[in-house]
Amino acid sequence: MAEKNETMMQYFEWYLPDDGLLWRRAAARADALAAAGVTQIWLPPAYKGTSRSDVGYGVYDLYDLGEFDQKGTVRTKYGTKEEYKAAVRALQKAGIKVFADIVLNQKMGADGTERVQAVEVDPANREQDISGEMTIEAWTKFTFPGRQGKYDDFTWNWTHFSGTDWDEAAKKKGVFRFVGKNWNRETDPENGNFDYLMGADLDTDNEEVRREIRKWARWYAGEIGFDGVRLDAVKHISFEMYRDALREVRAAAGGRDVPAVGEYWSADIGRLTHYLDIVQDEMKLFDVPLHYRFHDLSEGSGSMRSMLDNTLVQVRPDDAVTFADNHDTEPGQALESFVQPWFKPLAYAVILLRAQGTPCVFYGDYYGIPSRGIAPTGGLRRLMKIRQLYAYGEEADYFDDDHIVGFVRRGDAAHPGSGAAVLMSSGEGGVKQMDMGPAFKGQTFYDAMGVCTDAVTADENGRAQFETGGGNVSVWLTQPAYECLLLEC
Ligand code: CA
Repeated sequence: MAEKNETMMQYFEWYLPDDGLLWRRAAARADALAAAGVTQIWLPPAYKGTSRSDVGYGVYDLYDLGEFDQKGTVRTKYGTKEEYKAAVRALQKAGIKVFADIVLNQKMGADGTERVQAVEVDPANREQDISGEMTIEAWTKFTFPGRQGKYDDFTWNWTHFSGTDWDEAAKKKGVFRFVGKNWNRETDPENGNFDYLMGADLDTDNEEVRREIRKWARWYAGEIGFDGVRLDAVKHISFEMYRDALREVRAAAGGRDVPAVGEYWSADIGRLTHYLDIVQDEMKLFDVPLHYRFHDLSEGSGSMRSMLDNTLVQVRPDDAVTFADNHDTEPGQALESFVQPWFKPLAYAVILLRAQGTPCVFYGDYYGIPSRGIAPTGGLRRLMKIRQLYAYGEEADYFDDDHIVGFVRRGDAAHPGSGAAVLMSSGEGGVKQMDMGPAFKGQTFYDAMGVCTDAVTADENGRAQFETGGGNVSVWLTQPAYECLLLEC
């Protein structure tokens, strides 16, 4: 069987209802997602967080996957541990690789406080102390009374953390570093040193912490049997830690591929490539620069011509997981930079139909974000289907205009009907001559996105004047491929 294009899906958005049904929905939709072209799925963090409605990043107990009565609930926002396991099995049975979301930068929702010697640092420059040593009351005691030592009897105290952001005694917010602790040397240089993000920050230089993380990782992999990992907040975690951990995991996997993608949130391509050099390509990274390019273009700034310049998919294509939006870029979220709806189909055409990068489709684009009145992205399912069936073969680019740009895929023998001409405009509609190659001479093409309704015919060299509408994207397929797509054959 011919190799299919990989397509990842992020299977959650920030504002999902707290109904405990996501795992069951994922299981029920596993076959439909596979048919839609999804080959990899990133599930949200499955651990008990600070409350039942926690999205998953406010991790309280890594060993509670919706099993114990803690934080006022047995299930998480997404369901119970048994439902989680059933979802993973159903997705894998449908041929989809499951990625677990690994959150190891911080812990939140501690069971108790401790009096700790600390210094306050400048939030804008964490290398700069702004107080002398003082005693604060920190939320750093994690004893998990609801779990009572099942699976693991490790409890956490302040010595396992580097710092926190709240002094309970003084009711004071700040960034506090515990005396005797240093921020990790190798982290992102933003704010002086961006080791600290939020909550109680894990001290990954601490040998007990390292041992506990290893033990937990083995337990989690054994319990759930996920295929790959999505690593949260890697710019706030010692760069060496995941490099070494991934090597260990891969050595233990006995040659089985263990795909990994890290969230390094920076629009600066230099930071991303520096990180990839340090971790020696043990993981891919999300292409944050490309997301910001989409966002800016959707807001009317920047040129379509330079859309791909200094993006990860251009500079390190094999290391790039491309995406349009995610749970953090949604309206109202921490990194709000939502790509405007009119531009979404253009962004998805770029990430889904080009040869390089692994595209990640966002749940909020696929199903919409009802709580914010945001509809599903028009044409997204069709673009995913075109990726699955026809986006193969050699690529040629026509990024030669500030508004109308395009590219062609010339198809390959392994995928009947494959090949496509993609043209998009951030301004007025228009045409561009693009070259599909001599194999397409005399072929008739139709716009599978329905923007243009007239057929286009290629000349004796396979060239044609392809067209698109204003603020739109057209994907031209040969007549047999177009008909096959419409008939879902
Ligand atoms: Ca950290």
